[in-house]
Amino acid sequence: MEEFIQDSEVQYGTTTIKYKVHFSTRKTLGIEVHPDQTIKVVAPNGASLKRIAEKVENKAPWIQKQVRKFKKIEKLEPAKEYVSGENVFYLGRQYRLKVIKGAQSVKLIGKYLKLTTPDKEDKRLSSDLINKWYSDHAQIKLNERFEKYNYILKQEKIKFNKLQIKSINKRWGSCTKLGTITLNPELIKVPVNCIDYVIIHEICHLKYLNHSPKFFRLLEKYIPNWRSVQEKLNMF
Ligand SMILES: [Zn+2]
Repeated sequence: MEEFIQDSEVQYGTTTIKYKVHFSTRKTLGIEVHPDQTIKVVAPNGASLKRIAEKVENKAPWIQKQVRKFKKIEKLEPAKEYVSGENVFYLGRQYRLKVIKGAQSVKLIGKYLKLTTPDKEDKRLSSDLINKWYSDHAQIKLNERFEKYNYILKQEKIKFNKLQIKSINKRWGSCTKLGTITLNPELIKVPVNCIDYVIIHEICHLKYLNHSPKFFRLLEKYIPNWRSVQEKLNMF
């Protein structure tokens, strides 16, 4: 069946949210934010554009959050070409990639992340070397930061199982009912106080597995300025 598509937009604060409405036989309205940051609204045939705009406006905070998330991921994606001059991030600071021919190594020197590779054209090898460097540093640094906040577990009598550093899609951290905290190794690219915020956030979730007022009270106890730190994290 052919779909009828209509371009539309709604003003929310200072931002204009542009979206495409796809009319279909479905009964309810659905909003999707795609990784390329386009917004698709699937609406029942015959739904009025005004009603749709109202719904989009109501969901604007959520939409903006999703868009930010995708922007963030785009920005943090590792350098794609692996050539000198590309930007890379480490602990919130921006470095320039410098690619040199020689025996394999990756080193942070001054303002540069120096990648030495036997074959500068082998992008796959360059990617592997850089990712290995990030992953090694993530293992060390994230464990070290976690150690620093271990005391909260004892102090709040929180049941804890283990910490794992493992890639998770589009999230900085997560935890389970059984007391396992997972941190995204991508965190190695953001400032240390943002790493600390994610760690404390997940520790607090082990006590309250939700975003209830109790959860935020506990969070605030250990990181009173969490809002500004979260804002900073949102920029990555
Ligand atoms: Zn949370």
